[in-house]
Amino acid sequence: MTKYIFVTGGVTSSLGKGIIAASLAKLLQARGFRTTIQKFDPYINVDPGTLNPYEHGECYVTEDGAETDLDLGHYERYLNTFTSQANNVTTGRIYQYVINKEREGAYLGKTVQVIPHITDEIKRRITLLGKDNKYDIVITELGGTVGDIESLPYIEAVRQLKWEMGDDNALVVHLTLIPYLKAAKELKTKPTQHSVKMMSEHGLNPDVLVCRTEEPLYKDLKRKIALFCNVTQDAVIEAMDADTIYSVPLEMMRERLDEICLQKLNMPKGNDPDMTKWKEFLNKLRYPKSKVTIGLIGKYVELQDAYKSILEALIHAGAMNECKVEVRNIHSEYLTPENAIEKLHNLDAILVAPGFGSRGIEGKIDAIRYARENKIPFFGICLGMQMACVEFARNVLKMGKAHSTEMNPDTTDAVIAMMEEQKNITQMGGTMRLGSYECELRSDSRAAAIYGSTHINERHRHRYEFNNEYMDAYEKAGMIPVGKNPKTGLVEVVEVQDHPFYVGVQFHPEYKSTVENPHPLFVAFIKAAKEAQERRNGHNHPVYENSVAEG
Ligand code: GLN
Repeated sequence: MTKYIFVTGGVTSSLGKGIIAASLAKLLQARGFRTTIQKFDPYINVDPGTLNPYEHGECYVTEDGAETDLDLGHYERYLNTFTSQANNVTTGRIYQYVINKEREGAYLGKTVQVIPHITDEIKRRITLLGKDNKYDIVITELGGTVGDIESLPYIEAVRQLKWEMGDDNALVVHLTLIPYLKAAKELKTKPTQHSVKMMSEHGLNPDVLVCRTEEPLYKDLKRKIALFCNVTQDAVIEAMDADTIYSVPLEMMRERLDEICLQKLNMPKGNDPDMTKWKEFLNKLRYPKSKVTIGLIGKYVELQDAYKSILEALIHAGAMNECKVEVRNIHSEYLTPENAIEKLHNLDAILVAPGFGSRGIEGKIDAIRYARENKIPFFGICLGMQMACVEFARNVLKMGKAHSTEMNPDTTDAVIAMMEEQKNITQMGGTMRLGSYECELRSDSRAAAIYGSTHINERHRHRYEFNNEYMDAYEKAGMIPVGKNPKTGLVEVVEVQDHPFYVGVQFHPEYKSTVENPHPLFVAFIKAAKEAQERRNGHNHPVYENSVAEG
């Protein structure tokens, strides 16, 4: 029978529930248990696809095209397995389902209520992944903080499930904060006691407490927390601030979080977790032999979470290259031809980020021109690739007004245009071209060499696309559409010849980079950045003198 672990959070948000859940899952997986993680989010949006990154950080996309919370990215990066539509459920989706059923008359005239109808639907969804004996353990992360009004139906659903399944089959891990008061030089347990008390008022008691802290928890303090929160003493786990999120699984292993969970679930411990590959990765990450500086050009750069998967993919790729990757955030809104040299001249490579809408778009185009003309390694992702095509059209093909119809619907040269299938869509949520699609690469392309294959699958999230009417003009001038969808002919990858590294991709490779399998495009990009740095160091005068500023 599948066992369930619930991860809740108390005291404050942003304690890193996703990382703790993913770390625990990693350890259980490394012991040989078939493990997956899902997240339940208490907001009313049906999914985060329509949310602004400033609200909610990056929208992560799964193979099967679900637009999900960014924590699913952590789950995949840690476990090296795919998640799906079923792994992220929101209150909006629960209510949508229940209300649709009500309209169908499925409740036979009954009053539809939070309890039991909403809680039953939450329970059904929680146990969905556990059906068919696919997993030994399903970890469910509950978004939000205990005590939030919108979390209540989830706490109640978990309470009922735990009662139905029994303590051997369901376990609650509560993540909490033990603040350190500098003036008193003391760690304080009261907020944790209150948050546990609040949970128990709703009939749910945590079995394990993971305590985020800046200072080590000494033995007496652990005992005090255990006593007042009604958990066993070994179930008070210290989670000190870590230098990188990738050290957390090893920290949790040291604290025996996985063993304690297995013990409480009455499960055999299995083998000790095999974390060899993980440790190798961590060593490379901690002891780099070189350093590169990558410019990340985007319009949400002030918010770290907006480009989460890209930043993590750069970290994975850096470790593979034994190279520290310093990311310099460059706000595309404030980038102009006049200040491009000043802002970009000391970068080893430039990555232009995905995005929507016109804000900051000209800055992206300026950065791409700079990278192309000065032979700085360039990687354009989704909107970054589209703007690379616009830049090339304007400055090489001499179509001065070229644009994407997303930014200028009346452009005379719509080199990027809305996909045919998108034209009649009026609903916003979940209607983009989403999820994994195939792509055929030209065998002589850089991308094929990097992937080591001419047939790849990558995830998408877009409405606009390269306009194939311009294909010949681009090819003749040296920008080659080297990757296409074999069924639809949609352009997925472009490369510029006579350039050390210039790759634009319509898809999002960042979603598929994991600790164990860093994404080959990112790995090659960082390698190109290292080589560019070496070349630059060999020059007295950088090659970017005749650049955008004069252009
Ligand atoms: N806005 C562009 C489109 O819809 C690019 C999307 C993206 O970068 N994810 O096609």
